[in-house]
Amino acid sequence: MATLSQFDVLTLRRDFPILQQEVHGKPLAFLDSAASSQKPRRVIETLEDYYRRYNANVHRGVYRLSEEATFAYERARGKIARLINAPSQREVVFVRNTTEAINLVAYAWGGANIRAGDRILLTMMEHHSNIVPWQLLAQRTGAELVYLPFDGQGRLALDDLDRLLDERVKMVAFTHQSNVFGTINPVTTIVERARAVGARVLLDAAQSVPHMPVDVQALGVDFLAFSGHKMCGPTGIGVLWGRRELLNAMPPFLGGGSMIDLVELDHSTFAAAPARFEAGTPAIGEAIALGEAADYLREVGLATIHHHEQELTAYALTRLAEVPGLTVYGPPAGLDRGGAVSFTLAGVHPHDVAAILDQEGVAVRAGHHCTQPLHRVLGVPATTRASFYLYNLPEEIDRLVSGLHKARQIFA
Ligand code: PLP
Repeated sequence: MATLSQFDVLTLRRDFPILQQEVHGKPLAFLDSAASSQKPRRVIETLEDYYRRYNANVHRGVYRLSEEATFAYERARGKIARLINAPSQREVVFVRNTTEAINLVAYAWGGANIRAGDRILLTMMEHHSNIVPWQLLAQRTGAELVYLPFDGQGRLALDDLDRLLDERVKMVAFTHQSNVFGTINPVTTIVERARAVGARVLLDAAQSVPHMPVDVQALGVDFLAFSGHKMCGPTGIGVLWGRRELLNAMPPFLGGGSMIDLVELDHSTFAAAPARFEAGTPAIGEAIALGEAADYLREVGLATIHHHEQELTAYALTRLAEVPGLTVYGPPAGLDRGGAVSFTLAGVHPHDVAAILDQEGVAVRAGHHCTQPLHRVLGVPATTRASFYLYNLPEEIDRLVSGLHKARQIFA
């Protein structure tokens, strides 16, 4: 497998203008890509090029600019389909983000398929965006939510599937990679078990599509949700992929222009997917720039990026073990461990840790990372999280570690 040398990463870093700056007089070490990644110049330029040269609405005008915008928007859909190996680009729906993608499925698919007494199986490590939409659905329908726990190393307790997964479960929705533990969950195993009871599967791929090869056909899921801003693309654009027959059997989520076939005064008929789920003017420039981000990631190579992050993670786990009083959550380094590393430092509040690291130019995130149920199980209100991407270097982890020693000294 191709690996990224120090030289390769230094070269890649030149693609990201934001990384060239100093913060508090120190070079920026950006270790918060799990929250939102940085953007390479060509993505920024693609967005600007749309606004400068061919800004126009899509699917409406017959004039040159509108045709060019429509062509670029639909070509971006094709690039996303290639990125995740979707059988057809008509299965790729542009939404705002992962959160909207999951809400769309919970509302539209859930409204049509979930009844009182049905169950929706989630896990205890889900982001709030893969919990709250299902809670709202359960409240509307009388369905019940059940949660698969995780073990002491932040891995899903698969043995509990036997207890939780039966014919009452109609949907299994879970994260591909935990944004707190970094755990990469065994998707095909869970899909197989879900299929055996006739349940559908939604995979929250917010933390996987940006970081590793994701093939929807090989994974066998029914729906996949991810965000552009975490994968070198702009904010305001995300993707819902769904099997065509499921999408076309679902009622709309939002009503309005572009998603209809025919509008009468008292009723309407609806276009097929993806238009059915793209009511109103979409985020055109953002979608086109997301297509550019997908090309960029494919050119660097998602397997290469994944490998690089696993090396950084292994290095980080080794170095963090040297810091007295530090507890890291999640599995040890290994094939099922991605590049999000959350920890607590005894006697220092996670926000204070992050504030001290900021003074050192090291950007990390502190808080519950939108996973309150997970943190409740851990028994801590918050953690500090460092997360890695293609542009990070081992030296940045060294700076993280020295910042942590400094935090200890200050608060000791
Ligand atoms: N799911 C996971 C696992 C995430 O990490 C995130 C964002 O942190 C989300 C969902 C929500 O993504 P967005 O805020 O882009 O909708």
